[in-house]
Amino acid sequence: MDPIEKSGYYYPNKFALIMLEALEDVLGVNGLKAILNLAHLPELIDNFPSDNLKKEFDFSYVSAINKALEEIYGPRGGRGLALRAGRATFADSLKNFGALAGASDLAFKVLPMNTKMRIFTQVSDQHSTSKEMGDIFVYTIHRCPVCWGRHDLDKPVCFIAVGLLQEGMKWLSGGKEFRVNESRCVSMGDEVCEFIIEKIPMR
Ligand SMILES: [Zn+2]
Repeated sequence: MDPIEKSGYYYPNKFALIMLEALEDVLGVNGLKAILNLAHLPELIDNFPSDNLKKEFDFSYVSAINKALEEIYGPRGGRGLALRAGRATFADSLKNFGALAGASDLAFKVLPMNTKMRIFTQVSDQHSTSKEMGDIFVYTIHRCPVCWGRHDLDKPVCFIAVGLLQEGMKWLSGGKEFRVNESRCVSMGDEVCEFIIEKIPMR
């Protein structure tokens, strides 16, 4: 697989650390090593980012890892693993970042859903916005790390983001599962990556 060009945009190390640990849980130690090798990121093997908020983890690394998942496990297998890793990343981030959002207390739990969505949007590091339209939320990532540097694809690929949103909605709603679909993707030539979240939970 070809390397992905650096973006010059960064996630804080702490978030990258949480994501890599989630990937390791999902893939196993050797599974993650294979992914990092294929993704041209061998320097991360046994050498995860430090636990601090310095912005040093280039968006292209996320995209390379996502692409390597597809290459090694196939589109279907890669999608399932990316969803799981995305969900685990949100759950673990919440434990670490929850306090930043003032998100753990009862007052937050009783806020209307759209207000919670706005807060969720602000806590996440990439430039993203959300809006409410009838019975859906539209969540837009304007500078998407997951498909950074990829072009000419015929299907959306940002499943790590879908997993994050699914788990985010589960948390916001107190344990319900919501349908989340990526409707537009920069890798397909769209201007943004866009996710449609149905307001009525599946269960
Ligand atoms: Zn994307």
